[in-house]
Amino acid sequence: MIRFHALLDFLFPASCAYCSSPVRESRVPRFCEQCWSDLSPLQGPVCPSCGRAFGSPVALEHSPEHECLACRKDPPRYDQALAAGIFEGPLREAIHVYKYRPLRALGGPLAAWMAEQVRMTVPLDLAMPVPLHRSRLRHRGFNQALLLAQGVCGRFSVPLSFDNLVRTRHTRPQVELSGRERAENVRGAFAVARPGEVQDRKVLLIDDVFTTGATMNECAKVLKDAGAASVTVLTLARTAE
Ligand SMILES: [Zn+2]
Ligand SMILES: [Zn+2]
Repeated sequence: MIRFHALLDFLFPASCAYCSSPVRESRVPRFCEQCWSDLSPLQGPVCPSCGRAFGSPVALEHSPEHECLACRKDPPRYDQALAAGIFEGPLREAIHVYKYRPLRALGGPLAAWMAEQVRMTVPLDLAMPVPLHRSRLRHRGFNQALLLAQGVCGRFSVPLSFDNLVRTRHTRPQVELSGRERAENVRGAFAVARPGEVQDRKVLLIDDVFTTGATMNECAKVLKDAGAASVTVLTLARTAE
């Protein structure tokens, strides 16, 4: 049977989801080695609070604590947001295939790539994925943030807590909404089921994509209200804007 599949793969090779070239013996399902090695890491100066990429290093040279205008105007509830990559090119396509095809098998390779890109310098007690609502979990079959969290918490030696941060209601997909609508859409949508477990803990909150940060901000708010000592956000990719 295995031989038969190998023969089929040889005769009809799967094509790369990004560049359409045949995928033979790639480490990663649906992506060729070249595209996978072209995933875009987030490099260069970023806002020390929200992780937004700065166009020039000048601001940080003058003051390493310099935050972007959005963070100074409306400080986020999380302490720091880190992202492994930029949401573009093959990484954007990989996240799309992972979530919407959906292709669960990409979770492991994406988590491994994510952990490789980030230097975690802050102490952590607990890793938590952004939860999915039951209805979306049923539809997708897995929580994409949980698979990423499972992959990275081993690397950072942080225990995983996967059912304490919960979604209390269904929300519209954030991708359909504008910046202001996103914050409104997720307001009051999360809760901490067992506050005692996060009290005085340093939490690592994990999700796939950081766009406006509205979801992470709302999760950080309920974690802080439950007594978390700090909330560090880690996402696989951040939009470039
Ligand atoms: Zn490719
Ligand atoms: Zn910022």
